[in-house]
Amino acid sequence: MNAAWHRRHPMPPKATTEQRIAWHLQHAKQCGCREIPPTLAALMRKKKKKKG
Ligand SMILES: [Zn+2]
Repeated sequence: MNAAWHRRHPMPPKATTEQRIAWHLQHAKQCGCREIPPTLAALMRKKKKKKG
């Protein structure tokens, strides 16, 4: 676990969906101690569809 990254990137207590997605994307790159929640992954896919 990348503890230094976690110290520098605390999840905001009232994080919006956008913030949670951004946090997890960075987290997956920098650490990956836990997986992206399926509900959030589904939201990510939805957003991608919208854009493309
Ligand atoms: Zn982590």
